[in-house]
Amino acid sequence: MAEQIQAENTLRGWQAAAAEIQIDGRAFIDGARVDALSGETRATSNPANGDEIAQVAYCNADDADRAVKIARSTFESGVWSSMAPSDRKMVLVRWAELIDSHSDEIALLETLDVGKPIADTLGIDVGAAIRTIRWSGEAIDKVYDEITPTPSDCLALVTRLPLGVVAAIVPWNFPLSTTAWKLAPSLATGNSVILKPASNTPLSALRIADLATEAGLPAGALQVLPGSGSSLGQHLALHMDIDGLTFTGSTPVGKQLMEYSGQSNLKRTFLELGGKGPNIVFADGNLEKAAASAALAVFYNGGQTCTAGTRLIVEESIMEDFLAMVIEHSKAWIPGDPLDPATVMGPLIDSSQCQTVCDYVTIGVEEGAELVFGGNTVYGQSGGFYHEPTIFAGVNNQMRIAQEEIFGPVLSVIPFRGADQAVEIANDSIYGLAGAVWSRDINTAHKVAAAVRVGTMGINNYFGGDITVPFGGFKQSGNGRDKSMHAFADYTELKTTWIEFE
Ligand code: NAP
Ligand code: MG
Repeated sequence: MAEQIQAENTLRGWQAAAAEIQIDGRAFIDGARVDALSGETRATSNPANGDEIAQVAYCNADDADRAVKIARSTFESGVWSSMAPSDRKMVLVRWAELIDSHSDEIALLETLDVGKPIADTLGIDVGAAIRTIRWSGEAIDKVYDEITPTPSDCLALVTRLPLGVVAAIVPWNFPLSTTAWKLAPSLATGNSVILKPASNTPLSALRIADLATEAGLPAGALQVLPGSGSSLGQHLALHMDIDGLTFTGSTPVGKQLMEYSGQSNLKRTFLELGGKGPNIVFADGNLEKAAASAALAVFYNGGQTCTAGTRLIVEESIMEDFLAMVIEHSKAWIPGDPLDPATVMGPLIDSSQCQTVCDYVTIGVEEGAELVFGGNTVYGQSGGFYHEPTIFAGVNNQMRIAQEEIFGPVLSVIPFRGADQAVEIANDSIYGLAGAVWSRDINTAHKVAAAVRVGTMGINNYFGGDITVPFGGFKQSGNGRDKSMHAFADYTELKTTWIEFE
């Protein structure tokens, strides 16, 4: 392996580190790096300039079948599944520490592969992965099972057992943190896991898998298979010997995965899907804070965030002034080179995502919404996929730009009159992932927060939360829960043992 990277935290420092970094794009199976059985590879590229970063193993159904066999025999051997929880804990804690000591390298890989600003990958994504793995490890030897209130001549035990072999399929927008959200609880509970990263962004998951082995994770407990969603991903989802499937990605693919489960072995299928986050601002809110937060809520990660606050629902009486404040804050979200530590917003992931955003800007204009900020792609000569932060005012919630997930830096601003209408607009969506309400009146804030049908609701903040709280969606935003002790439920079966005494 390459020397540990420690970059000077400047644009030059990161450019130098990027020029030096050695990347191993092979798959990770049975504790080692291997080529795909076919020998095929595909390039992964840098969204900031379109350049190839590395060739990556292109795994297919044969690799998947091999990985499933290894995962199954590892599970049945008990080397991981029957290890004492306190010992599994130590492996996960060591793994978190190793990721911590490789922070610069992993952040750089993520920035190159995803186009995310280095300040974010270093300050947010890597830290989130470390905390998730450490927390799940530390929690697992503190979970108690149950004894139920039976008559005294019986004893009933309710225990949680690992599912067996779990497949995890993750997207490109938060590759490292979603990978950690899936791997930490599934491994902590003793499963053997097969992870398929997104085709666009396989590098950070492969690298942390090496570190898992170094931390003492037994060979075969984890495999990372890069490859295409429509072939490798589908094969995993239809596999008869995979017991659980955990997914983060789009709602249409999530629906297909449920069908695949039904067509195959009814594998437990947990989905974290899209969103169209309502961010509701009342006239009595802290408007300065709400305006800054409204820009962050939609432009962070270029709007490629499932929880993004893409519908800004504003009390009509303050619309004009508040919109002006949001526009002022949006000027800070200038796209820039992701390797520059001063950059707050990078490029979009690829040309097709950028085209989708452009198409929605056209749709918004055609629907009659008022384009009040941004609206264009920028820096075309860089070869990257940069788009300005963009705001539509005068949006009606029936418009496509208010109903459909754009997954780019596009804000739809919608007026409301009265709390009931705010809630009605917020809930008029197929999604129910995240939202927020801004008001200094505890009654308004709490009543609205309770009435909005989403998995995570902020009061006087957007994006609040940490590893201690569950994360997931209502409605077509999904069914599972990542993070917190509740995530363990997605990776375990409840078993009853009923004992009668003579
Ligand atoms: P996507 O197209 O659904 O892809 C997600 C993953 O599924 C990728 O690894 C993809 O592989 C794979 N895949 C695609 N088609 C498949 C199939 N037929 N069978 C099995 N696997 C398949 O989503 P995306 O465009 O990458 O990600 C953006 C979406 O994720 C957005 O809708 C966003 O809201 C959602 N998201 C949700 C959360 C959450 O927690 N709720 C978090 C982040 C993102 P390829 O890369 O090879 O296509
Ligand atoms: Mg890439």
